[in-house]
Amino acid sequence: MGSADDPAVSYLSAARERVLKTVADACRSVGRAPGEVTLIAVSKTVAASRLEAAVAAGLTLFGENRVQEAQAKAPLLTGARWHLIGPLQSNKARRAVELFEVIESVDSVELARKLDRLAGELNRAPLGVYLEVNVDRDEAKAGFLPEALEAELPALAALSNLSLLGLMTVGRLTGTAEEARPTFVRLRELSGRLRGSVAGLGAGLSMGMTDDYAVAVEEGATLIRVGRALFGERQVE
Ligand SMILES: *Cc1c(COP(=O)(O)O)cnc(C)c1O
Repeated sequence: MGSADDPAVSYLSAARERVLKTVADACRSVGRAPGEVTLIAVSKTVAASRLEAAVAAGLTLFGENRVQEAQAKAPLLTGARWHLIGPLQSNKARRAVELFEVIESVDSVELARKLDRLAGELNRAPLGVYLEVNVDRDEAKAGFLPEALEAELPALAALSNLSLLGLMTVGRLTGTAEEARPTFVRLRELSGRLRGSVAGLGAGLSMGMTDDYAVAVEEGATLIRVGRALFGERQVE
């Protein structure tokens, strides 16, 4: 385990401070309390040894987009918590329920039903999930289309082993942070509308990545998923 004068720890500690300062500034600009925003350190492709340094630097909540990768790292790290933020194949659902505290990438009723059943079987109920929404109707992105989610929400809310913590989305990946703002606004508005009509959906909004998390925080993000601003550029995807 790295100590405070370990260069890997001080690098990550400084990066964490920078991100938290940006979050605090964005909160202040719109009258939110910084405590409303939780930082997820997206650790995909980052080696477990470096994640030990991250834990020593105060980063303990990690986001991974592949079950297998998280499965390899999780046993090596004590004190870490894990969110799944990438697409989940049905045949990996059991392992995902065993490994992750929260699954942010629930994108179909079929997957939700499977997780509900597994959460019961594996004594993980209530399992926290976010419903991923493809706000921009981007064919390259996963997630419920907004009107599909509206139609399916009553069925999702009836799954008693799941706790629907909120909605998750990925902003536009091209252009400037400002171009992602309409996506975040629409996710927030959709959340408000859905919560007004169906009980059981939480107010969480998981949105914002390295290039756009300040804008996401201004628009109400409660979880931000930040990788490169903490760990540097990824070598491989
Ligand atoms: C990789 C990834 C992130 C983090 O991206 P950065 O640009 O490195 O901050 C966030 N969310 C999802 C779903 C991702 O796959």
